[in-house]
Amino acid sequence: MKNIVFVAAPAAGKGTQSDLLVKKYGYAHISTGDLLRNEVASGSEFGAELKKIMESGSLVSDEIVTELLRKRLECDDVNNGFILDGYPRNVAQAETLDTLLESLGKKVDVCISLDMDMDTALKRALGRISCPQCGAGYNKFFDAMKPKTEGICDNCGSTLISRSDDNEETFKTRFETYIKSTEPLLDYYKDKGILDVISCNGTPEETFNEIESVIK
Ligand SMILES: [Zn+2]
Repeated sequence: MKNIVFVAAPAAGKGTQSDLLVKKYGYAHISTGDLLRNEVASGSEFGAELKKIMESGSLVSDEIVTELLRKRLECDDVNNGFILDGYPRNVAQAETLDTLLESLGKKVDVCISLDMDMDTALKRALGRISCPQCGAGYNKFFDAMKPKTEGICDNCGSTLISRSDDNEETFKTRFETYIKSTEPLLDYYKDKGILDVISCNGTPEETFNEIESVIK
C-alpha cells in the first residue's frame, strides 16, 4: 500500500475520505494535531513541556513536530501504508519529511490534493447541519444531503443545528489563504511527479472512487 500525503481545500471532506481509506484498507492515519494531543495526554515529561508551550499560545516548533512524527513513523503499523493529514503544510516541512522518511527507508508515494471550486466549498461549509442527538450530518444546500423533512433528523426526529463556524466572508478568506499557501507545496510534489489532483465537487462516494483509482 502507498504512503499518502493528503492536502485538502477547506470543506473538501478530508476527514471523511481518510476515514473511508482507514476502514477499507487499514491505512495508518497520522495527524500531527492528534500526535500533539496524544503526547500531552500520555502524561510524559515531554508531553508536560508541550502542554506548557500550547497553553502559552505559542506555536509548537517544527523540531518538536518532526520528533513526534519520527516516533510515530517508527511504529510497525505504518509499514502497511499511511495517510499523513495536516502535514506538511509548506515546502520546508515537505523536505524535512522526505529526509525523515528516507532515514527510515520509506518515502511519500503520492500526494493527493483534494480540490474543490470555491462556490461548492462555500455551500458545503455553510450548509452543514447536524443532529445533536445521534450525530448524523446533513447539508441544506445539496439535494442528496438534505434531510427528508427540513430541519429534522431522518434517524431520530431531533431538530438539526447549524455546524458552521464560518460566515461567507471568513470562509472565502480561509479558502483563498489555503490556495495561496499550498500552491508551492503542490508544485513541490508535482515536480517530483507524484501529485494527483482529485476534484471533490461531486459526492463523497465519487471522490472516494477517484482516490481508489489513484492508490491502486
Ligand atoms: Zn438524529
